Amino acid sequence: MIEVKSLKKKFNELTVLNGIDIVVERGQVLAIIGPSGSGKSTFLRCLNFLEQPDAGFIKIGEATLDAENYTNKDVQQLRRQTAMVFQNYNLFRNKTVLQNVTEALIVAQKMPKAEAEATGIGLLAKVGLKEKADNYPATLSGGQQQRVSIARALAVNPHAILFDEPTSSLDPELVAEVLQVIKSIADQQTTMIIVTHEMDFAREVADHVIFMADGNIVEQGPPESLFGDPQQPRTRQFLKQLG
Ligand code: ATP
Ligand code: MG
Repeated sequence: MIEVKSLKKKFNELTVLNGIDIVVERGQVLAIIGPSGSGKSTFLRCLNFLEQPDAGFIKIGEATLDAENYTNKDVQQLRRQTAMVFQNYNLFRNKTVLQNVTEALIVAQKMPKAEAEATGIGLLAKVGLKEKADNYPATLSGGQQQRVSIARALAVNPHAILFDEPTSSLDPELVAEVLQVIKSIADQQTTMIIVTHEMDFAREVADHVIFMADGNIVEQGPPESLFGDPQQPRTRQFLKQLG
């Protein structure tokens, strides 16, 4: 489960997160939507300390952290709870697909190579890329590269996976294959937070949707009500402008 209370973040004088509260139960999928610059990526990045929040409490799986009073050990613990999937895949260019997936298992978790490779092949099968194990990322399509990064995220068996616009860099014809893989993982009761511009996908996959604007949660609810019957003018305007 993920529980965040009163999370705050400023960049200099700019308030980017103005006290964000969320709860994601184990196995649930939270989608975060909102206009550009509303703080969605910053929020995700604060959850694994890629950004340092100024205040608030974060509880993910076994880790808890008070942003105003924490140790390095707290940060390490927290980081172990999540894996992040980025818009631009962030694969190691000079490593094969399989090496990308097994890197964290071998280096961080000290798993024996043979075991890590067996695990890696299993995960690649899960995202439909077993036959690409020995390829280098540059020889794959964007959709395939993103599926590798999803397999890599799954490898460390995190408490939750954080997706930041996982399909935004993809050519339109490659979006569906990646969404399909994410959906199949969601169906296996993986706890996830997904920042996305794919409203149909959010509607289909999310258990709960948050609409953020200017560092605040403006409105939230189950997808049927947030998309079907939005209450706030700001939410209506955002959804309308998406068409
Ligand atoms: P998008 O939909 O475009 O990805 P977003 O909701 O993810 O937007 P963020 O990337 O979280 O928005 O940015 C929120 C605000 O914080 C923006 O005004 C951005 O310019 C600012 N910001 C983000 N990162 C930094 C940084 N490292 N230093 C200074 N300002 C930053
Ligand atoms: Mg962003």
